[in-house]
Amino acid sequence: MARSKQTDGAEVWQVMRGPAGRRDGEPVAAQEIAGRVEQLIVSAGLPEGARLPSERDLALITAASRPTVSQAIRILVVKGLVESRRGSGAYVRRKPETSLAATVSLMLSLNTESVAHLVDLRLWLETDGITQAIARSTPAEVAAGEAALRELAASAGSTSAWISADTQFHATLVRASRNPYLASIYESVHETLINYEYRDWIASGTVPDWLRPSEAAFLTALHEPILAAVRDRDEQAGRLAVLRHHQEMAQHLAASRP
Ligand SMILES: [Zn+2]
Repeated sequence: MARSKQTDGAEVWQVMRGPAGRRDGEPVAAQEIAGRVEQLIVSAGLPEGARLPSERDLALITAASRPTVSQAIRILVVKGLVESRRGSGAYVRRKPETSLAATVSLMLSLNTESVAHLVDLRLWLETDGITQAIARSTPAEVAAGEAALRELAASAGSTSAWISADTQFHATLVRASRNPYLASIYESVHETLINYEYRDWIASGTVPDWLRPSEAAFLTALHEPILAAVRDRDEQAGRLAVLRHHQEMAQHLAASRP
């Protein structure tokens, strides 16, 4: 990481000095320290990769204990605002969308009967995402979609490689909608669903029949029309291709449960 990305000196952190807002004698809570660091990252516009003070220094600045500071850092890691690097320290991360997938996944775990609602939501998000991508995508984004499609065909035969390649293909095209909220929510929903749908194959280390290496051409044929619609800027074809992919995958998944 470039040194220029580190905070220039510790002075930016001095605004957090002292146990402000607490009653006398009451220990400063981890939630409060996390909230103050979050506020500072936002208000000072600290960039991705900026280094946080050491836990020891943060404890001195905030008049909190070391364990409280450690707990505050963990809260921020879960929120996608901080990254902990072993032996190196903590750094600013500006990816709160990473906690979206954990939230969606927990919602599904607590109510697996809601899976059909999540499948519907994915279809709606992808349909709108592809419609927007058809209007806005650049040649570079289409090229990224083509590379993702090749990766997807090459992943046939491995459930885990497939999960990552399928997520990458769909997310690459939805990202071309240029709406970061839509793209992040879509990716969280897709990632949650695909991990849920393939959980039995992941657990047993097996591959569904239609995901064998010999089926690469079928998998390409199912996904290529989505990419072609974006490339050709054909909205009607895009909506149909997304719907067809949705229906065929639902059939395959229902028919081939191990
Ligand atoms: Zn797919």
